[in-house]
Amino acid sequence: MYLRQPDPDLAKRYLDATIEYLTLYERLLGPYPYAKFALVENFWESGYGMPSFTLLGPQVIQLPFIIRTSYPHEVLHNWLGNGVYVDVSSGNWSEGLTTYLADHLLKEQEGNGAGYRRTTLQSYTHYVASQDDFPLIRFRGNHGQISQSVGYGKTLMLFHMLRMELGDQQFLHGLRLFYRTYQFKAAGFDELRDAFESVSGRSLRRFFSQWLTRTGAPILKLASAETSVTPQGYRLKVRIEQTQPETPFQLHVPLFVHFAESEQAVPYILEMDERAATLVIDSETRPLKVSVDPLFDLFRRLDPSETPSSLGQLFGAKQLFAVVPDAADAATQQAYMRLIKQWQQRQPGLTLLRDSAIQQLPDSGPVWILGNNNRFAHLFEPLLAQQELIGKSDTLALTLSRTRGNRQTFGYISTDNPTALGGLARKLPHYGRYSYALFNGDEPVISRRGEWRLTDNALSVLLGPIIEKAYPQIPDHLPLARASE
Ligand SMILES: [Zn+2]
Repeated sequence: MYLRQPDPDLAKRYLDATIEYLTLYERLLGPYPYAKFALVENFWESGYGMPSFTLLGPQVIQLPFIIRTSYPHEVLHNWLGNGVYVDVSSGNWSEGLTTYLADHLLKEQEGNGAGYRRTTLQSYTHYVASQDDFPLIRFRGNHGQISQSVGYGKTLMLFHMLRMELGDQQFLHGLRLFYRTYQFKAAGFDELRDAFESVSGRSLRRFFSQWLTRTGAPILKLASAETSVTPQGYRLKVRIEQTQPETPFQLHVPLFVHFAESEQAVPYILEMDERAATLVIDSETRPLKVSVDPLFDLFRRLDPSETPSSLGQLFGAKQLFAVVPDAADAATQQAYMRLIKQWQQRQPGLTLLRDSAIQQLPDSGPVWILGNNNRFAHLFEPLLAQQELIGKSDTLALTLSRTRGNRQTFGYISTDNPTALGGLARKLPHYGRYSYALFNGDEPVISRRGEWRLTDNALSVLLGPIIEKAYPQIPDHLPLARASE
């Protein structure tokens, strides 16, 4: 551990974490490939994983969450990237696999694997328009939100689907074989496929080729779910469709059914090769509820009802509007306009409107409503009335969505302190995954952020007669790290 100033507490925390991660990855993948590992504090801000050391900047190193996020990711690059090198000619597998085995794995241990996967799918759904998409074989490195959602996000989902397909033991055996065989050599997706094929004895050619060479993602629709009475009990027919414009994907769609008189939902897999497929389930007790991929195990575009409204829906939009209040004083109006001008540089499709010039809000595309004296601020009144949410924050960014034909997201920004808008212009785009972000002071400093809680969605339906009851949450998979114990 090389710090520029002695800091025994910080050093101890990192040393403990280093031992934890080295032990974890030796158990999962095989022996650490170098004689030593060092954490070196850099004199400029960085987060680099180098062979046998990592370079963290002086501010980064102090951030409390780094030790559970970027740090294990950089440690793991000693096995993946700097242990086995990346042959980029067929796409860079290392970032997605490292993210899956570090960032996702640790979230999974905290019981939030499904939440992490939902956020991953949400960012692909919001940031990657079909014309910007590219196949994984063309991913080289991170160049911003779009390449990150594909190169990191889609790749980590590829490895998650592979794990679901093979089971935890074979998945880990495949990774160990790959690491053992290609240590200090360059390897690509073909070599990864070889390793998983030889431990499973199955051909994975179609699986890899679909996720590596195609763009786009499936969109699932729960087309119908009908129950009929049979001499033995009940028959449930669930019909699922793929509604994306691209040709159908080959999928193993996970379904869960809650039955009367039992607490646990029962898992099923529906094999899909075509645009539509039907699963028939015979049971003795009445089926009550069907949920399609509730743990977000498939790479797919999410249905809008599966995600709470988020700031990212506004920052990821190609065409959107911002409505400035004429009732605000001149200085405040100027501050709002500067904020929008700054965002227009990244989002040329952002159109500025004045509230006095329009009768009603645009009915397609997301809309920012600026200022508490905006004629359209009443849309946010129910949220603004929640004192326990707003508290003492003086700069607010909130979102909500409404369905009028299609689903539309609205964002609301207001401040008692126009000086804060300069800093907000820079900071708010980093809070894309949240439904709201609240700030204080001139800088401004974040005080609260979070996502709205969702109750039900289009891929999860109750089967009539509707019985009002709270269905227990479907438990997530056992963490991968547990499978190697
Ligand atoms: Zn990385």
